[in-house]
Amino acid sequence: MKTISHIIGGLQTAGGSGQTQAVYNPATGEQTGEVVLGGADEVDAAVDAAKAAFAGWSETSPAKRAKMMFALREVMRQRADEIASTISMEHGKTHDDALGEVTRALEVVEFAAGIPSHLQGDFSREVGPGIDSFVERQALGVVAGITPFNFPSMVPLWMIPMALACGNTFVLKPSERDPSSANLIFDLFREAGLPDGVLNVVHGGKTAVDAVLDHKDISAVSFVGSTPIAEYVYTRGCAAGKRVQALGGAKNHMIIMPDADLDQAADALMGAGFGSAGERCMAISVAVPIGEETANALVDKLKPRVEALKIGPSTDASAEMGPIITAEARDRIANCIAAGAAEGAKVLVDGRGLKLQGYENGFWMGGTLLDHVTKDMSVYKEEIFGPVLSVLRARDYSQAVDLINAHEYGNGTAIFTRDGDAARDFAKRIQVGMVGINVPIPVPVAYHSFGGWKRSIFGAHGIYGKEAVHFYTRLKTVTARWPNGIRSGAQFTFPSMG
Ligand code: NAD
Repeated sequence: MKTISHIIGGLQTAGGSGQTQAVYNPATGEQTGEVVLGGADEVDAAVDAAKAAFAGWSETSPAKRAKMMFALREVMRQRADEIASTISMEHGKTHDDALGEVTRALEVVEFAAGIPSHLQGDFSREVGPGIDSFVERQALGVVAGITPFNFPSMVPLWMIPMALACGNTFVLKPSERDPSSANLIFDLFREAGLPDGVLNVVHGGKTAVDAVLDHKDISAVSFVGSTPIAEYVYTRGCAAGKRVQALGGAKNHMIIMPDADLDQAADALMGAGFGSAGERCMAISVAVPIGEETANALVDKLKPRVEALKIGPSTDASAEMGPIITAEARDRIANCIAAGAAEGAKVLVDGRGLKLQGYENGFWMGGTLLDHVTKDMSVYKEEIFGPVLSVLRARDYSQAVDLINAHEYGNGTAIFTRDGDAARDFAKRIQVGMVGINVPIPVPVAYHSFGGWKRSIFGAHGIYGKEAVHFYTRLKTVTARWPNGIRSGAQFTFPSMG
C-alpha cells in the first residue's frame, strides 16, 4: 500500500503530524494507500520553501517562464494516459472522461505559455512636461490553491500554470480523497524543468486549510469546492488580509423549449446529467421542459436511456459512468433521493442499491430520474452531486427563467431551442455565470474565464484566462520625469501634470 507524502522544496516528506487518511479505489472499495495529513508545521515549511524560491522565479523572464509551460505541455501530452489512469484509480471516472480532464487542463497550460503578451503593460508619454507613465503587473509572492476531489488534475491546473506564469510561487492543498494526482502534477512540472520550491504540495483537511488561510506570508488563495467551505475560506482568508477567489457549488438547470430537437436535448441531458456520475460542478441536475407535452415526450425518451446506462470501472472502455467517490457520498446521495420521494417526487428510475458483479464492495450507484419535482423540495434546492436528474415541469418560458433566477446557485445553465429570440433573451436575462445555447456544459475555453454567479462564487475574479492574470498580479504605475534635474520649485498644491 502506498503512502502519499507532502512535497516541500522538491523533497517528499511525511511531515510531523503522524496523521493519515485512507485512500480508496472506489470501483473495488479497496484501500489503495494512505495520505499524510499536514497542519501548520507543514504549511509553514512549504511557505518557507516557496518564499525562498520566489526571488529567483519572479526574476526569471516571462519568456523563460513561457518556455517552461511549453515543456510542460509536451510532458503532459506524453504522459496523458498515466495522468488519466491516476485520476480514475482514486476518483473512479472513466478513462476517456479523465482524458477529457487532461485535455482541458492542457488548454490552460497553452494559454499560460502566452504569458509575455498577457503581462504586457501600458505606457503613456508626456502625461506632464517631461513626464512619462508606465503600468506593469507584478507577481504577488506566495499564493495557494485548495482544490476539490472531482477534478483532481484539471482544477489544480486551472490555477498553478497561470499563477506560476505570472511569477508567483505556489502551495497546493489538494483533496485528501484522491491525492495522488497532485503529486503526479508536481512530477510533470519537475520533468518540465521547474526549480525546487516553486511548487509545493501539502496534503490534509481542515487543519491544513486553516493554516493556509491564516498564514501571513501567503498573499492569495484560490479555492474550488462546495459552497459552505467556499464561503468559509473566503471569509477567513479575507479577514487575514488575503486576496481570495472561492468557487462553490451548483444546481444547473437546462430549459427544453417546445421547439427543441428532443433527441438532441435527451442526448445532452444524458451526458451532462450522468457523465462522471454527476460529480461535476457543471453537471445538469435539473431539466426544465416547457409545457406538459414537451415534458411527457422528453421523459419518454429519457427513462429507457437512464435505465440502460452502462456503469462500470474505468478499465471498462464501454462504461458511460463510474462509481461514486466514497461510500459516504453514495449514502448521502441515496438519502437525497429518499427525501425527494418522501416529498412527492416520482422516482421513474431508481439507481440506489446497484451491485456490480466482480465489484461487490465498490461505491456504486445507478442513474436516477425524478419527475414532478417542485421548487420547494430539498432534492431541488440542494446540490446532490451525484447521478440524479430531476425533471421540473414549467408552464412557460418566463416561469422557467424566474425559477433559475431565484435559485441560490448560479454556476451554469443551458437552453435547448430553435428560437433565436428566446435564446438571445435567455442569454441576457439569466442570472448565471456560464450559459449554454444548445450546449449543455458550457465550460469556457482557457482564453476566456470560468466562474459562476450568486452563491457559486465568492470574490471578484473568475479562474484562468485574463481574470487569472488580474488575480495573480498587482498593478504598479510608475510616473517618471526625465531628464533628471528639471526644477519647477516646491509645489504645495495637489500635483497636476498639465
Ligand atoms: P469540499 O468543499 O468538500 O472540499 C474542497 C476542499 O476543501 C478540499 O481540499 C477539502 O480538503 C477542503 N475542506 C473540506 N472541508 C473543509 C472544512 N470543513 N474546512 C476547511 N477546508 C475543508 O468539496 P468536494 O466534495 O471535494 O468537491 C465537490 C464540490 O466542489 C461540489 O460542491 C462542486 O460543485 C464543487 N466544485 C465547484 C467547482 C466550480 O468551479 N465552481 C468546480 C469543481 C467542484
